[in-house]
Amino acid sequence: MLDYKFVVVGSGFWGSTIAERIASVLDEDVLVIEKRGHIGGNCYSEVCHQTGIEYHKYGTHIFHTSNRDVWDYINSFSPFNAYRHQVLATWNGAVYQMPINLETINAFYKVNLRPYEVDAFLKKEVQKSDLPNVDSLENYSISKVGRPLYEAFIKGYTWKQWGISPQKIPATVVKRLPFRTNYNESYYESRWQGIPETGYGAIFKKMLSHGRIRVLVNTDFFDIRNDLPENARIFYSGPVDRLLDFRYGKLEWRSLKFEQEIKNVSDFQGTSVMNYTEAEIPFNRIHEWKHLHPERSVFSGDHTLIAREYSLNGTGQEPFYPINDKKNQALVEKYQHEATLFPNITIGGRFGEYKYYDMHQTIANALTVFNTMKHGE
Ligand SMILES: Cc1cc2nc3c(=O)[nH]c(=O)nc-3n(C[C@H](O)[C@H](O)[C@H](O)COP(=O)(O)OP(=O)(O)OC[C@H]3O[C@@H](n4cnc5c(N)ncnc54)[C@H](O)[C@@H]3O)c2cc1C
Repeated sequence: MLDYKFVVVGSGFWGSTIAERIASVLDEDVLVIEKRGHIGGNCYSEVCHQTGIEYHKYGTHIFHTSNRDVWDYINSFSPFNAYRHQVLATWNGAVYQMPINLETINAFYKVNLRPYEVDAFLKKEVQKSDLPNVDSLENYSISKVGRPLYEAFIKGYTWKQWGISPQKIPATVVKRLPFRTNYNESYYESRWQGIPETGYGAIFKKMLSHGRIRVLVNTDFFDIRNDLPENARIFYSGPVDRLLDFRYGKLEWRSLKFEQEIKNVSDFQGTSVMNYTEAEIPFNRIHEWKHLHPERSVFSGDHTLIAREYSLNGTGQEPFYPINDKKNQALVEKYQHEATLFPNITIGGRFGEYKYYDMHQTIANALTVFNTMKHGE
């Protein structure tokens, strides 16, 4: 019998934050159950033994937030470096700024527009397309930037990422992506940004190092569920459909595959993330990890570590991105409604809510869940 009053399923930022708060604030024992062989969920990072370069096992993770509570909380586990995220895209043999900004537009059209001239310029491009509605990602994007920019930078990338035509994807998926008429090249607009100087792997180790916390890795919650006390208070960040035995069918996900390679050059691409927007190129982007830590001595070494990222159908693969369509949204609502029938289980995180959350949103949500529980609500 695992005699714990508090049990946390999953050691990503959602589960680790709740476990850390229970131990540090309530001074109670807590059991963390993690299916994978390591803690940290999808934000986990580790150092490559051959190169000494730290890499993010599940894709580049940049911490950014305008929420002071979250920023103070995460900084209590590691200082952050001054990294500012910028994304570039290779298309047709040349490199452009992403998200689309004035530099992208001027370089693409070989013009020298001023910010106040952009709207009128793009309006002429947009008017060349007959758009019956702007409900799809394709039509919405064309209505903002015109067909040529859409076809160069959005169409092929979106096809690769989601595996379906951008005509079939709702516009909501692209609405959160910024589009700028100035030279601002910062990917995020959050007040605070950076990469933990000690690395994400070390942050999770520190979060879960409290003497009141016991972590079981390589352990599936469903294999040991019967060994837990019936009245244990459970915080579950696994998939919500699994909690209910997939009784209405499985939620669908997109997956990713990373192909790591050591390059015998000091700097392969000059930046941390390079998108490849053409449909003919099978991968979506290349990550070059050392650029995330310019403060480390390994930065100037004579080799580098890169990873090509491929998008995959999620069936039978590690789930990464929830699919934002009507079918899956209806299914998740059904599951979430039914999950309220378990009064001792609180469900959260990206698996539990079937939502794309950034790290700061995940931590903010976990802090709210903890505070609500602490106040007995
Ligand atoms: C490719 C990619 C890039 C991203 N980049 C950024 C970024 O730059 N900035 C940013 O802010 N956010 C980024 N994110 C989002 C970030 O990864 C999430 O916000 C974060 O991982 C959510 O944490 P979580 O705890 O909800 O889930 P996870 O990190 O997925 O953790 C859930 C954990 O639960 C475990 N688990 C599941 N089922 C069970 C079970 N039955 N038993 C035991 N354990 C179980 C899993 O193994 C996993 O470790 C990115 C996401 C992706 C996919």
